[in-house]
Amino acid sequence: MASQIGQPTTIQLTKHIQFAVIIGSGVMGAGIAAHLANAGIRTLMLDIVPKELTAQEEKQGLTLSDPCVRSRIARDNREKLLKQNPAPLASKKLIDFIEVGNLEDDLERLKEADWIVEVVVERLDVKRQLFKTIEPFIREDAIVSSNTSGISIEAMREGRSESFNRRFLGTHFFNPPRYLKLLELIPTSDTDPSVVDFMKQFAEERLGKGVVIAKDTPNFIGNRIGTYGLLVTMDEMKKGGYSIGEVDSVTGPLLGRPGSATFRTLDVVGIDTFVHVANNVYDLLPEGEEKETFAVPAEMRRLVEQGSLGAKTGQGFYKKV
Ligand code: NAD
Repeated sequence: MASQIGQPTTIQLTKHIQFAVIIGSGVMGAGIAAHLANAGIRTLMLDIVPKELTAQEEKQGLTLSDPCVRSRIARDNREKLLKQNPAPLASKKLIDFIEVGNLEDDLERLKEADWIVEVVVERLDVKRQLFKTIEPFIREDAIVSSNTSGISIEAMREGRSESFNRRFLGTHFFNPPRYLKLLELIPTSDTDPSVVDFMKQFAEERLGKGVVIAKDTPNFIGNRIGTYGLLVTMDEMKKGGYSIGEVDSVTGPLLGRPGSATFRTLDVVGIDTFVHVANNVYDLLPEGEEKETFAVPAEMRRLVEQGSLGAKTGQGFYKKV
């Protein structure tokens, strides 16, 4: 059954979430789409699709606007999704609940969405620009949210209309969304209370989440503590001369925490994403000891520079087998 709002609403607001558009089809976008599919909700996942002709297409004198090239690109995009994403689906058949598209070509389809979730790279400038681009295509009663790990929600919606701002909040899923129940909801001072109530009820009843309402502070609650814990662990590891394997052994499965080994977690999260998330706090803290706790170690920055981003590239602290 679709979720309904219990409280009378002060703004025009969708009554159900039956169709969602997810912008960003990386680690989290794909995971959220799969979680929604498991809950019986149809999604369209949009990204920036690289549009290049194959050698064969070039030889045939085709162009990017030819229908056969467009459908080949759409097919490739879908195959990429299937490859990165089968595990979080309760059944392979549910993949039919997830459509895949290109943001640039599919902006008009945003009008179909009851809920639009931004799940692009963790950069304020990119997110702000995206909201500016999509605002004209969003329905007046739709909910819009960001899955940011810790960028200010208030800062992200700067320049948007009052109507947008009342329907905008943070919806921070944890990775992998299918298995981790926690969902942080982060309203701004402009978010209408009925939107928060609606999303809380929807997330709990339809998505099976445990909702925590967090303040719009750097990295909210989960990642403020989580980032701190990971960076302090790495610091102690260096001081104590421990290996990656030793640290993972004493922070993970052997302690009855199958998903929380330090370095395996970093590989699942994406090392580039973790660096952005740690920087969210570092950049905002005043000079001092606390700020330095959030400084990303050189070894991690080196991994990002060489493209070893974790499970998504096949190599991070561990090699994916
Ligand atoms: P990712 O690098 O795996 O994927 C990001 C995707 O966004 C890529 O596919 C990229 O092509 C796309 N993208 C970038 N700019 C775009 C644009 N302008 N329009 C459309 N698509 C665009 O990153 P991720 O790990 O999925 O993280 C996405 C967001 O979710 C970030 O804000 C991150 O902080 C947050 N988050 C990540 C995790 C995690 O564990 N990885 C957990 C919770 C929240």
